[in-house]
Amino acid sequence: MKAAASAIAMLLAAGTVFAQGTPAPYKGPLFDTHLHYNQEAWDGNTGPFPPSEALARMQRNDVKAIIANSRPNAGTQTLAAARETRAAGVTVVPFVRLYRNRDDYTNWFRDETIYEMVQTELARGTASGPYRGLGEFHLYESANANGPVAKKLIVLAEKEKLAVLAHVDDVAVDLLMANAPSKGQSLRLIWAHTGIGGAPVERVQALLERYPLLMGELSYRPGLTCEGGRLCPEWRALILKYPERFMVGSDTWVNQRWSSYDETMRGYRTWLGDLPDDVARRIAWGNAAGLFGVR
Ligand SMILES: [Zn+2]
Repeated sequence: MKAAASAIAMLLAAGTVFAQGTPAPYKGPLFDTHLHYNQEAWDGNTGPFPPSEALARMQRNDVKAIIANSRPNAGTQTLAAARETRAAGVTVVPFVRLYRNRDDYTNWFRDETIYEMVQTELARGTASGPYRGLGEFHLYESANANGPVAKKLIVLAEKEKLAVLAHVDDVAVDLLMANAPSKGQSLRLIWAHTGIGGAPVERVQALLERYPLLMGELSYRPGLTCEGGRLCPEWRALILKYPERFMVGSDTWVNQRWSSYDETMRGYRTWLGDLPDDVARRIAWGNAAGLFGVR
């Protein structure tokens, strides 16, 4: 009995040491800056994640605001209008998605009907107010940033002060910025995943330097976290150097991401705990809240 008791005491002591050596997870509010509420999650009638289910996930993770963008835009319209959204205390910042269906992923940058759809959607707005951005859009080949409709949309975004959520590589960031009237000096581009292909940290830093309004959203970013889900040293250093330039998002692009929403947010809270409190709060909430005037 005695031996067992002292073994337990030792384990408890070890646990305490471990707990002391591990920073506590971030505890404040989260702004999910990359949320999709796509047709297969809920089509307005059926689906595994009706508004009450989607919002319950946000609420229990203290997600207080979201950039909503959905294929088709009906999903965003639904969230923006839902009584449950207000009841859950979630602010919707709506973006116009460029996709009506999956075929649009690989053709939007040259499809005039997408430009028309965007105009119609912007004119219509949402029950949570006007659209604040365009995207997420994908460019699987960087050169398509120069597609005729891509060019027009970037000009429109800058003119209308709409943010742009772009899933692109580092080469396409330069191309999109070059197509903005300001040559990228006043285009608010949110780089989805901050380069899902893993552009080197030095390259990310060079782009942040070149474009003062470029923001990095960090879902799926390769090399961001190391052992135990803690921040890798080079990313910790980059975030500390540019604390006002990064944000987090769930990227609920398939239903599995809704199933693992709690885990995703827990993962963010873990590594945010590696940062000073004020920096963690900026990345988790403040940068996006400031951008869209959410309080
Ligand atoms: Zn996405």
